[in-house]
Amino acid sequence: MKFIVDCMLGKLAKWLKILGFDTVYFSKIEDPALLALAQKEGRVLLSRDNGLIEKSRDIKTLFIESEDWNPQVEQVLDEFDLWPEVRPYSRCIECNVELKDLPKRRAKNLVAPFVYERATSFAICPRCGRVFWKGTHHQDMEFKIDEILKKREKREKKEAKKPQNNGEKKK
Ligand SMILES: [Zn+2]
Repeated sequence: MKFIVDCMLGKLAKWLKILGFDTVYFSKIEDPALLALAQKEGRVLLSRDNGLIEKSRDIKTLFIESEDWNPQVEQVLDEFDLWPEVRPYSRCIECNVELKDLPKRRAKNLVAPFVYERATSFAICPRCGRVFWKGTHHQDMEFKIDEILKKREKREKKEAKKPQNNGEKKK
């Protein structure tokens, strides 16, 4: 599932990319251009603008309820059942392209020494060359990702507890 996010929701767009989802976002774009792109690339439009959603016709849309990025992200994951597809550090947040694994020895000259020492894995954007890493716990982003993954675990447990709806009676 691919997304296009309206101008007002920059933080949501960034976080969808951090979590690995194909997401395009422009801080400035006219409605017709935005809708044309959504149509052309088969993207789901995420917006808090009812006027824009009304104009979207046959483009799939989701009205975003919250004003905060955290519940916004949860709403998108819930609505499209995307929790199992969350893959942090798999997409460049600038270019929206998939990252490539970077062997540790090749990261040496590309990151700060403490990052090189502590990070557990590295990835690089094939387009802009930006290096991403995990495992340092120095980035605010890592804490937030952990929180999101914990929420996913909770949801998975809830799912597992749900009685199966297959018509059989429990003995
Ligand atoms: Zn990039």
